Amino acid sequence: MIRLILLGGPGSGKGTQADRMKERYKAVKISTGDLLREEIRRESELGRRARQFMDKGELVPDDIMIGILDKITQKFESRKQSYILDGFPRTLPQAEALLEMLKKQEVALSSALLIDVPESELVRRLSSRWTCKNCGATVGYPDGKPRHAVCGQCGGELYQRDDDKKETILNRLKVYRKNTEPLIRYFEEKGLLKRVNGFGDPDSIAAGIAEILEHLPRT
Ligand code: ADP
Ligand code: ZN
Repeated sequence: MIRLILLGGPGSGKGTQADRMKERYKAVKISTGDLLREEIRRESELGRRARQFMDKGELVPDDIMIGILDKITQKFESRKQSYILDGFPRTLPQAEALLEMLKKQEVALSSALLIDVPESELVRRLSSRWTCKNCGATVGYPDGKPRHAVCGQCGGELYQRDDDKKETILNRLKVYRKNTEPLIRYFEEKGLLKRVNGFGDPDSIAAGIAEILEHLPRT
């Protein structure tokens, strides 16, 4: 089984790479962003609470996120199902809580994989990013979206996320720098960090990740 975290700024390609990895490693992707957007769509109580933060590019409070992840990791552990976390942890308390959860489950994190992308590139990608309404896949159109473009994965309708607007993008980057970047040190000190260059085309980045995962311990 593998239990993997993907670290990286908004727009670093975590979701895209997780989608590619899941077939290869028979893992499920747990995207906290997708999960919260689904709750908003369903107009659940959780969705209503999360939305207030997400629309501003702020983080959803730690206690909410940790509760969600506790349930999910237990579920997959009991099924012996490998998983890739995309978007969690995003703060130090979340990181600590995750390692604590795994300890209680008597298992270990395989690795925290950092997808390293310069900030100027993140802004460029997010401002041109379109997301599939149906499957959540994303595609970048730096020169504007062609009128009849649809999702390359499933043919679904493409839209621009509310938080992929200029001011919100800048705030998400600020939040990333302040809250999430410190996790790089945190996992480095625990000997769990692996870095991959995330600047380039998705195929070569996927190859870089595959190279790293080859050498990871499985349990
Ligand atoms: P991106 O990685 O492109 O910023 P995500 O889809 O991962 O986007 O997350 C979108 C939003 O969902 C975040 O800006 C935040 O408000 C909320 N969110 C997702 N994961 C977490 C988390 N682990 N902790 C707090 N908020 C989260
Ligand atoms: Zn799709």
